[in-house]
Amino acid sequence: MSIWEKLKDGTKAFSEKSEEIIEVARSKSEELVGITKQRMAVSKVQTEIIKKKTELGSLVYDLSCKRREDSESVDSICDEIKALELELSKLENAMMDAKNQSGPVCPNCSAKASEGAKYCSNCGSPLSEIKQDKPEE
Ligand SMILES: [Zn+2]
Repeated sequence: MSIWEKLKDGTKAFSEKSEEIIEVARSKSEELVGITKQRMAVSKVQTEIIKKKTELGSLVYDLSCKRREDSESVDSICDEIKALELELSKLENAMMDAKNQSGPVCPNCSAKASEGAKYCSNCGSPLSEIKQDKPEE
């Protein structure tokens, strides 16, 4: 088996693994499980993107060293990176939504505040003293 064939085989195995990870990430985001699990899915996709880019880099390096034309492999890795990045942005959006829904809302300006925040980051109204609306005497 030539080095070139080995490289192609490696790329194929890589593609299959990447599809698996997208599947896992997809099912996780659909289940809308806890933030921790969403974060794990995000970091998995991020890691996969880095791996793909490394793989793409070495493939391009080998291609130019050997002066061989195999733009198909390069294109397929590019497509996979695009798919992974799309998946990543979906996961991040889902995470942002979940985060926004869980936090308190400012009684004054209705801005979403981060969980545990004492004051609204938008208008500065106290968030924890909503109930104590006693008049000053
Ligand atoms: Zn506010």
